[in-house]
Amino acid sequence: MNAGTFHCSRALLPHGWASNCLVTVDEDGMIVGIEVDASASGATVLPGPVIPGMVNVHSHIHQRLIAGLTGYRAVGADSFWTWREQMYRAVGLLSPDELRTLAAFAFMELVEGGYTVTGEFHYPHRLGGAEPLETATGLVKAADAAGMSLTLLPVWYRYSGFGRQALAERQRPFGMTLDELTSLVGRLREQMGPGVHRVGVAPHSLRAVEVSDLPEMLAAIDSGPVHLHISEQPAEVAECRRHGGRTPIELLAEHVELDRRWCLIHATHASDDEIALMARSDAVVGLCPTTEADLGDGLFPVRSFVDQGGRFAIGSDSNLVTDAAGELRLLDWGQRLQLNQRNVLCDEGEHLGRRLWADAARAGADALGQPVGELAVGRRADWVVLDAAHPLLEGLDADYQLDTLVLAGARDLIDQVWIAGRQQVSNGRHPSRAELAPEVARLRRRLLEAD
Ligand SMILES: [Zn+2]
Repeated sequence: MNAGTFHCSRALLPHGWASNCLVTVDEDGMIVGIEVDASASGATVLPGPVIPGMVNVHSHIHQRLIAGLTGYRAVGADSFWTWREQMYRAVGLLSPDELRTLAAFAFMELVEGGYTVTGEFHYPHRLGGAEPLETATGLVKAADAAGMSLTLLPVWYRYSGFGRQALAERQRPFGMTLDELTSLVGRLREQMGPGVHRVGVAPHSLRAVEVSDLPEMLAAIDSGPVHLHISEQPAEVAECRRHGGRTPIELLAEHVELDRRWCLIHATHASDDEIALMARSDAVVGLCPTTEADLGDGLFPVRSFVDQGGRFAIGSDSNLVTDAAGELRLLDWGQRLQLNQRNVLCDEGEHLGRRLWADAARAGADALGQPVGELAVGRRADWVVLDAAHPLLEGLDADYQLDTLVLAGARDLIDQVWIAGRQQVSNGRHPSRAELAPEVARLRRRLLEAD
């Protein structure tokens, strides 16, 4: 039995825009048929251009708590490392229940921003002394409340720095042995069963995990996505060279095969050789433009990487910004500022909006092991409907509508978001968000009052 048929006057299919598409979705929320030039009779009409849901490959959902609260310069040179201390302090104040509320609210914001799947790189395992399974399960419940699909990536965090340095006091709740990690992944997979969620694994970084231990981790957890922060900060690259005698990506590639399971997050300070190495591999690079800008990380050379065959996806990371279009916009703007060109990440004869949205969604789907990223038979019915009646979009060709979302868009250009064939957002809003808002406001005020 079909769960529904949907009629789109314009839909972005893998080969480009198509008109009058009738999309059939089964009870599991999967697309089982797409007919073009079809009539709308009996179908639910999607009133604006329909694009695939965006995939968010990298999020630390608890960091939404401090969005906008780290703009006060308290020290001489504010940096990633001073920000990290502020973030550790904030996370230390959260109970597991508070994390769940905050996460549900922030997942709703991400859904409103056009994301339908999030890769949650989850490391506050023992908040308030809780068991790792309890904290992780809380995040799954939070995603369920938002209707969002999750690829949960429990983080393997062992050390505070290269050379197996012991964890600092504030990092202790993140620590886990390989046995604990393997057991957590196994239990989460058992609990979830089939459905919209997946479980991968995330060795935190080459600072927090010893690279020579990774083959053992890959053997113990032998399927699902593997995500790792790498080369985000120059200090980290320098430390890696000092301890490992190589730059981080070269060192990693000496110990593991960078196959389809891998997603390398940031890779900001990759050398030319490392860019070529990643582009030749089957790994996806996960770029987080607004967070990388906020933390003063630097700019990854996206155009050069893409020209060598590399694939990138996007992530909201610290969740300072929760809209997909905003990440894509800054991704291209960063390249423009570096290269003194415009429309860097598309080719001649292409619209930037379509190219960026389609490329990031497809690579993101692979990086999270999710059957999404395209409107096609066999993929899940995750989509975003733009507001065709908005004055900036009304009466335009779909390519200009999508360019407007990516380049000029405020969130009010998104009308509806559907995940697994169910509507989660209408008129740009998630209906459950208002209920959680007072508690989220309280948590943010408490944080400032605790200063
Ligand atoms: Zn991160």
